[in-house]
Amino acid sequence: MRARLNTCKFHAGLVSFASCVTTVTASGARLRKLTSMNTIFKKDRAAWLQGPSAKCSAVPGEHKHPWRLILLGAPGVGKGTQAELLTGRLDACHLSTGDLFRAAKERKDCDQSSAMKEALEYMRRGELVPDSTVWEMVRERSACILDCGGFILDGFPRTLGQAESLKELMEKEKISLSAVINYELPLDEIVQRLSGRRTCEKCKSIFHVKERPPKVKAVCDRCGGRLYQREDDRPKAITVRLEAYERSTAPLIQFYKNLGLLMPIVAKGSPDEILARTMDKLDKLAADAA
Ligand code: AMP
Repeated sequence: MRARLNTCKFHAGLVSFASCVTTVTASGARLRKLTSMNTIFKKDRAAWLQGPSAKCSAVPGEHKHPWRLILLGAPGVGKGTQAELLTGRLDACHLSTGDLFRAAKERKDCDQSSAMKEALEYMRRGELVPDSTVWEMVRERSACILDCGGFILDGFPRTLGQAESLKELMEKEKISLSAVINYELPLDEIVQRLSGRRTCEKCKSIFHVKERPPKVKAVCDRCGGRLYQREDDRPKAITVRLEAYERSTAPLIQFYKNLGLLMPIVAKGSPDEILARTMDKLDKLAADAA
């Protein structure tokens, strides 16, 4: 209770008030309330998904201490779902490079640069897109990182090169990360999660055929859009993605551990249970910093 109230003080804003209210209710009710609050605070992330000239429909409020988080963890560990839930709790922007590439994929062929077309081929095979292309896209959107009320980076950085580029950018602007959350889950559970995952083609909300099924089969609860299985969630691409993770992304754990930023979280259980575990640690971090 004390820690959560500290979060309200530390990260004052619209959503922080909701954090206080939810704390005093019974835990089950609290978690249900969390989910409904998150629906309200969903942002369209236009500047991130479409490019820096687009305007976001809703931007985070002014925060004295915005949350600046990176989510690490193998593909399928639930980073996207947690990023969505945390966005509502922390009033920060969900910045996913995977979503960025998927948004580009939906654009008309003539609107895609040759670098983007090449990037989408890597993505289709489940391979990592080259650092230079990824960094070009992130750098173009650096306002989402530097000037935004707070951010939750999901799927970026994915290599040491990307992590170094981000560190340099943030150091230049004299801003620092709050924490790097590493979601941990055994391999067999990861494969099961990935193969059952379904994504809304309209609002990109994430469901799971068993763990988080929609109310109506293949229809998004949030916007009524059609749910589909991502090309890179099919078995062959899953293997390639997990190998790419081990090779390129796992070393980031040590990188951020050395910087004293790593926050490990067990990613077992339902999305709400994982969220509660994450919030407890973030509350503690905020309390220690206050
Ligand atoms: P995700 O939705 O984060 O799993 O990303 C889907 C795919 O997009 C990955 O399998 C990669 O092909 C590509 N991708 C996304 N983010 C990055 C990144 N930071 N570096 C390289 N490739 C990326």
